[in-house]
Amino acid sequence: MTETEIRNRSPQPKPWIEAIHAYVPGKSAGKDGRPLIKLSANENPLGTSELALAARAQAPALYPDPDSKALRARLGELHGIDPARIVMGTGSDELLNLAAQGYAGPGDEVIYVRYGFSVYDIAARRCGATPVVAPDADYGTDVDALLALVTEKTRVVFIANPNNPTGSFLPRGDIARLHAALPADVLLVIDQAYGEYVAAEDDDGGMALAETHENVLVTRTFSKIFGLAGERIGWGTGAPGIIATLNRIRGPFNVSSTGQAMAKAALDDMAFVERARVHNRDERTRFVEQIEAMGNHGLRALPSQANFVLILFEGALRAETAFEGLAERGYIVRWLPNQGLPHGLRITIGHPHDMDAIAAALREMAEAAR
Ligand SMILES: *Cc1c(COP(=O)(O)O)cnc(C)c1O
Repeated sequence: MTETEIRNRSPQPKPWIEAIHAYVPGKSAGKDGRPLIKLSANENPLGTSELALAARAQAPALYPDPDSKALRARLGELHGIDPARIVMGTGSDELLNLAAQGYAGPGDEVIYVRYGFSVYDIAARRCGATPVVAPDADYGTDVDALLALVTEKTRVVFIANPNNPTGSFLPRGDIARLHAALPADVLLVIDQAYGEYVAAEDDDGGMALAETHENVLVTRTFSKIFGLAGERIGWGTGAPGIIATLNRIRGPFNVSSTGQAMAKAALDDMAFVERARVHNRDERTRFVEQIEAMGNHGLRALPSQANFVLILFEGALRAETAFEGLAERGYIVRWLPNQGLPHGLRITIGHPHDMDAIAAALREMAEAAR
């Protein structure tokens, strides 16, 4: 047999699957393998609730409840949502993928913004749909630019609010305007992975839209402010038709027993969530002020409503150099050349002494780079 014949006899992936760039996670160890303080994955520096940790030990080792009934009931109670309108996912990542798969396929278009969350691109491609990328407005979401790309092929629009990796936030009016201008048969996915970090008075109105319209799915996660990223628990809410669609195609036992127990216990400790929100807000403000004082060196912190800040390096100090310098000092942050941001570092808000050390190191490097 010739080599070509052999190759033709091996399974061939679908061309749209081959076109996917696999998700690139942040690093967590230095070049020499020594552990670094990880501020690259937007995890909660305060850990997780003691109540969640206590619940871990009690989870049974049998198959989990396939419908996460107790957890959905508790979520419904807290958010004032009928639990029948809630679907659980293996992280919200699963739900984002299912939303694309459920509503789009080959020949259809899925829109998201430039510098949006990298999972949307994978979600669009893996069901064979065509990703359509809307231009940004100084790294933020430009509602008009996005709407200009809507065609009769558009099936799904993804918006993260706040957005990752930019931290930018669309206020309620903009979200309402975006939704109002979309055709009723286009699914608007509002990814609120960082929703709990936003002050209550700044609520983007996504939940209310999901409750009152047939074409809105809001996704949330226990990975960020709840500090349960390792358990992989996300949830979504929307019209019964959307929930039924996602339930048809999700993994039958997609949330582990431990995950269900820990998440439910975490919801009984909203004081922890509030502590984390206030810590993040205060530390983010302090950190951004220190970066703003380096404006003369070309460092720019984009306004963030999330638990991280994207710093742009527009002067002599390059982002890659800063990334390596921080790693030498024991800190791993996220450098984003794969997302069109070779000049950006996304830094998770951590403990005060770490943020101070990072700011001091950036200043030292910026002054040396002149
Ligand atoms: C972290 C993140 C998620 C959540 O991922 P999980 O699968 O729930 O851990 C979703 N969307 C955005 C924008 C994120 O940054």
